Amino acid sequence: MIDSHIHLDQYLELDKQIESWHANGITQVIAVSNDLPSSYRTLELQLKHPEMIKACVGFHPEYPLPTEQDVKEWEQLVKIERKRIVGIGEIGLPHYQINNLSHTLTEYIDRLTSYLHIAKIHSLPVALHAVHDKAQVVLSLLQELEIKKAHFHWLKASSHVLEQISRAGYFISVTPEVCYRRRDQLLARAIPLNQLLIETDGPWKYTGPFKSRQTSPLLLQDIITHLSSLKNKTIEQIHTETNINTKRCYCFN
Ligand SMILES: [Zn+2]
Repeated sequence: MIDSHIHLDQYLELDKQIESWHANGITQVIAVSNDLPSSYRTLELQLKHPEMIKACVGFHPEYPLPTEQDVKEWEQLVKIERKRIVGIGEIGLPHYQINNLSHTLTEYIDRLTSYLHIAKIHSLPVALHAVHDKAQVVLSLLQELEIKKAHFHWLKASSHVLEQISRAGYFISVTPEVCYRRRDQLLARAIPLNQLLIETDGPWKYTGPFKSRQTSPLLLQDIITHLSSLKNKTIEQIHTETNINTKRCYCFN
């Protein structure tokens, strides 16, 4: 099983945890980054566990915009470490924090455009945070810039927008919420099987049946079990398909 979106730099005692993930059938995780220090940290972790960790570097959109100096340094980092990076992310547009941030949405769109250019220059896929009405805005931007590979993580969008994302051939992931939340179950049903990924967005805490559990890739098995009944496929089929899709999206074997 592959966790297609996790914030690994926010975990403690990672060596021990990775051992147990591995023993429980987790083969890889796509580790995303939130800012420049987080990007360095993700790459550091990738060096320590090159088989398990696939690194993405980026600036999370629900935070204040990084300084131009940080962005320049980050661009250099992408250039130097290109071979150890599988994607640009987590990038996207703010939604939940938009009223608490001091920059306008237009400024975030400009910044996102520059990250997408970097992804394009280096032929890297993008790990996207683009939810609710921002999904459509980001989708238009991807199409305008002819971005070939993108992953809409934990997507929340209307069925109309979901259909457009699917038609464009982009990937979409579901989280443990698909086990207990109707909104996510309806979304999962509508995602074409060959574009579906699974993720935890750990260490984000879930409610429902996961209320007392720490979020880790160990929750993926529950996601697969639920997807199997939602999509009327065997557990093995869901497992195989989501593995293939993640590798296809982030280009690794
Ligand atoms: Zn995330």
